[in-house]
Amino acid sequence: MTGKTHQKMLEKYAEAIVKVGLNIRAGQRLIITLGATRGVPHQFAPLVREISKAAYAAGAKYVDAIFADEEMLRLRVQNAPWDSFQEYPKWQIQALLNMIENGDAMLSIAGSNPDLLGGLDTEFVGNMQRTHLENWGPISEKVTTNAINWCVVAAAGEAWAQKIFPDLSSKKAQEKLWEAIFQTTRIDQPDPIAAWEKHIVSLRERARHLQVKQYTGLYYKAPGTDFTLGLPNGHLWISAQSLAQNGIAFTANMPTEEVFTLPDRNRADGVISATFPLSYSGTLIEDFQVTFENGRIIKVTAKKGEAALQKLVDTDEGSQRLGEVALVPASSPIGQRGHLFYNTLFDENASCHIAIGRAYRFTLTGGTELNDEEFISAGGNVSLNHVDFMIGSPQMDIDGIRKDGSREPVMRSGEWAFKL
Ligand code: ZN
Ligand code: ZN
Repeated sequence: MTGKTHQKMLEKYAEAIVKVGLNIRAGQRLIITLGATRGVPHQFAPLVREISKAAYAAGAKYVDAIFADEEMLRLRVQNAPWDSFQEYPKWQIQALLNMIENGDAMLSIAGSNPDLLGGLDTEFVGNMQRTHLENWGPISEKVTTNAINWCVVAAAGEAWAQKIFPDLSSKKAQEKLWEAIFQTTRIDQPDPIAAWEKHIVSLRERARHLQVKQYTGLYYKAPGTDFTLGLPNGHLWISAQSLAQNGIAFTANMPTEEVFTLPDRNRADGVISATFPLSYSGTLIEDFQVTFENGRIIKVTAKKGEAALQKLVDTDEGSQRLGEVALVPASSPIGQRGHLFYNTLFDENASCHIAIGRAYRFTLTGGTELNDEEFISAGGNVSLNHVDFMIGSPQMDIDGIRKDGSREPVMRSGEWAFKL
C-alpha cells in the first residue's frame, strides 16, 4: 500500500469511528485514551489526528487525547521501589469521570505492545495491574452501564504487528495488520458507512430472534466440550449498536460480529475447551479446559500458562464465574483469517466465546438501575476482571433450551442454524 492510499484509508477509518462507532453529536467533547497503558502510544498520533478532524467535522466542540509512553510502564516495574505499586495517577480518573458526567464521548485505541511487561517480576506486574483495575473501577462501571457513547478500535502498533506476523519485516508486518484492520472493519468496502449500517441491521435481527425465543439456557457440544449454561430471566440479547444513557446510539466495538447476553452466574455445568489461546496480562494460555459446577469454576487445566489462568480465576469471587455469553459464526471475517490477533477486540469476533468475570448491566432488563447486590441476585456477576475466551469452532453445535426443557438448534457446525 502506498503512503497516499494508507492516508486515504486512515481518513475513511476515522470517519467510520466518529460516525458509526461514537456517533459524535454536535457540542460533545471527545477524550481519546487507553486504560491498561494509561494512555495512547505516541505511534498512534496519525490516527488520533484524523479522528480529531473527523470529530470536529461532526460538530465536536473539544477533542483531546491522553498520550503515554509504553516504555515508561516497563521502566517503572524495573526501577520503582518494590512497595510503590499502589501509586496511581488518580487525576486521570477524575478527569475522565468529569467528562462522563458531562455526557461526553470516550474512545480507546487498542494495539499497544502485547508483551510490554513480558519477562518482568510477575508479582510487581500483578500488583500494578490490580491497582489499575481498582482505580479504573468507577470508569468501568460507567462504561459497562453505557453512561455515554464510547468505542474501542485498533491501530496497527509496531510490536503488536510483529507478534502476529513474526516472519515479516517490521514495516511489512504493520502494513499487513493495517490491511487486516481495514478489512475486518469494512473500511476496504466502497462505502464503509453503508456497509456498517447493513451489518448492524443483520446483527440486530439475530439478536431479536434470540430475544423472542426466551431460552432458559444454552447447550454446547464440540470436541472437548460438553457444557450447559443458564440464561436468567430478563436477559437481553445485545448486538453491535447500543443506546447510551446520554441518548446517543453508538457501536462500542469496531470490528464487531457478536450477539451476546447475560449468563446466569449460578448455572454453568460441565467442561468447556478453549479453541484459541488466551493472551492474559502478558502470558499466553494455551490448550486449556475449564470445568464448572453450579456456575462456579472448580478446575482449570492448560498445556501452557496454567498458573496465569489459575491466578485470573483466583482474583476475586466473581472471577470464578461467567459474565458474558456471545455467539459468533465460525465464518466471520475475523475467523476466516485463521490467525490469532493476540487482542480480544479481534479474537473475540473470530468465534463463539464466554467471559470470566464482570457482566454488563445492560444485558439484563433494568440492570443499569440495580446495585451490585441486586444485580447478583438477578443472576448477574461482579468482578474486577472481564476476560473473554474463545470456545467456538466449525465443530461446535449449540442448542437453545426452552422453558419445558426441550432443545432446538441455534448453531450447527459453527454456523447459525436458523434463518431470518
Ligand atoms: Zn464478547
Ligand atoms: Zn467480553
